[in-house]
Amino acid sequence: MQVTQEEYMRAVNSNTWKPAFLFRIDLEEALPYVSQLIFVPDTQEIMRINSVIKTFPPIRFLFQIKGGKSRIEVYENAFRTDVHENVGDFLSSLIDHEGFHAYEINKGSWKMVYGCEKRAMDNQIKNFPKRNISPTYREKFVEMYTRVNGLEPKIN
Ligand SMILES: [Zn+2]
Repeated sequence: MQVTQEEYMRAVNSNTWKPAFLFRIDLEEALPYVSQLIFVPDTQEIMRINSVIKTFPPIRFLFQIKGGKSRIEVYENAFRTDVHENVGDFLSSLIDHEGFHAYEINKGSWKMVYGCEKRAMDNQIKNFPKRNISPTYREKFVEMYTRVNGLEPKIN
């Protein structure tokens, strides 16, 4: 069962709920490719301004060995409602984008680093219908897609 909007809002409002929320997420098709999904809070020393969610390949990736699972770190920004207004926005970024990076890393994506952002974003578009993303997220996605890929996304 997937996490709900109510659970998301509880995590938004309290740092103590954030790890529990991540624990409850069903990573769906990204599950086989993710070793750890962890919440990394900001500290006095590190206040993250732009980082939202990051995927870290396994060591073997550096040696160009296929397989292996990635660690995904989720930062406080991911729980800002101006970044992810609802749970669908959050899951789109986490599963359909970062999870897709983890999938490609597992399959040996050092051969195809070029275009990996476009492929991850296209995977988000493919899954938009089931995510119920907010209009704000959609608008920002279109802007980002156009900036990164130099063409407008085809969203049905
Ligand atoms: Zn990406």
